[in-house]
Amino acid sequence: MAGYLVLFALLAITSPLALATDPNQLQDFCVADNMSKVFVNGVVCKDPKCVTADDFFFGGLDKPGNTMNPVGSKVTPVNVAQIAGLNTLGISLARIDFGHKGQNPPHTHPRATEILTVLDGTLLVGFVTSNPDNKLFTKTLNKGDVFVFPQGLIHFQMNIGETNAVALAALSSQNPGVITIANAVFGSKPPISDDVLAKAFQLDKKTVDWLQAQFWMDNN
Ligand code: MN
Repeated sequence: MAGYLVLFALLAITSPLALATDPNQLQDFCVADNMSKVFVNGVVCKDPKCVTADDFFFGGLDKPGNTMNPVGSKVTPVNVAQIAGLNTLGISLARIDFGHKGQNPPHTHPRATEILTVLDGTLLVGFVTSNPDNKLFTKTLNKGDVFVFPQGLIHFQMNIGETNAVALAALSSQNPGVITIANAVFGSKPPISDDVLAKAFQLDKKTVDWLQAQFWMDNN
């Protein structure tokens, strides 16, 4: 009898029927009302009667981003900030341009897995698994090749070809977020104490201060 009680208790805890939220949206669309002052997880819906085709449209992804910056790449995001109609739909896109030897530096997306297609050029890409293994999975990609970066893991892309490169990334969130590791660690505002970073990176404080004084770009 006690055994059955334990079994039922386990079932109650693990049953998907115990979910308190819906796994998907409850209407055809919930186009973001960017004027609303209400803060929710996502954005409140615009009146469906006021929605137009333009709420689902973004033009201009044929234009290369400007890669004249210290890392030599430019991400052009197309997420819920650019297309209000992506609100609640769990998907977005980015164009990534790479100049000669340019790179999209190590970063993570806290809310999305990324699937990347190379449209032109040759990229060295990779991601690193979580502790304790920190195993690197890396690959050289050419035009037409596709690679996946699992949600939350640190990853990068670098142009190792002789030409410029361009890739299209799809992400499993309307608002994937980006944490660029160098920016977050050495370019936070206000700065993290150099005592913390000197010990964490096993550097002397002068080197940490030098790193913190560098220009850290916004490359999302
Ligand atoms: Mn990415």
